[in-house]
Amino acid sequence: MERVSRLRQWLGSEDLAQAVASYCEQGLQVVPCHHPTITVGPGSCCAWVCSCGSPACPTPGEHPVPGHWAGEPMDEPAGIAALWRQDPERNVGLLTGGTFEVLDVPAAFGKAALERCARRGLSGPVVRTGSGRLHLYVTATGMPNGFVPNQPGSGRNGVFWHGEGGWVLAPPSRHMNGGISRWLEPLSSPLPAAHLVLRELLDLQAELCDRAGVPGVADVLGTAGVPGAAAPGRTGR
Ligand SMILES: [Zn+2]
Repeated sequence: MERVSRLRQWLGSEDLAQAVASYCEQGLQVVPCHHPTITVGPGSCCAWVCSCGSPACPTPGEHPVPGHWAGEPMDEPAGIAALWRQDPERNVGLLTGGTFEVLDVPAAFGKAALERCARRGLSGPVVRTGSGRLHLYVTATGMPNGFVPNQPGSGRNGVFWHGEGGWVLAPPSRHMNGGISRWLEPLSSPLPAAHLVLRELLDLQAELCDRAGVPGVADVLGTAGVPGAAAPGRTGR
């Protein structure tokens, strides 16, 4: 099979390496990640696959390059730049914990949550991921990765916390569906207090459940599930 990547042709102005350099300048630790690419076989159609090469990859285009994240300092600009010269299409992740943590919420719920937080002066950095979910950046708490416990039945459609020792995909990473991760509010925005944002999210969930007359948030969010939840911290969504 010949591996062909066309994303750079489609997105010539998008420069992952430039974004990575900017993150390094800000003192952030980046996580080199695999990315979507396409394979073309003789007599067959193109197919999107993960750059890791595994046809059964459980989190295609959304997982770190092995050996290049956990336990390795990834804030040395020259070394990082070399990694992106080797493969300019690597997606980029950022370590969570220490500087910030990230609340990962479904799109529709996240939009309502942002409006609610804004009314209370809790605005901060926000990313819309390539899959359409929203990432709300908040102050670090030291909490581990995992789904935020809330109402029974929240399951995989709930809010995922990228906490201490975790990581999150950052702009301009690309998603298998062709979407690109974008900053809706810049990383330079002041971080809102994590416990205050979480309180607003939990209150909003409770209101939605009450309004819908259902016992769990999964029934009211009505959005796609979170991939890779079986391995918390191993996907940046
Ligand atoms: Zn993969």
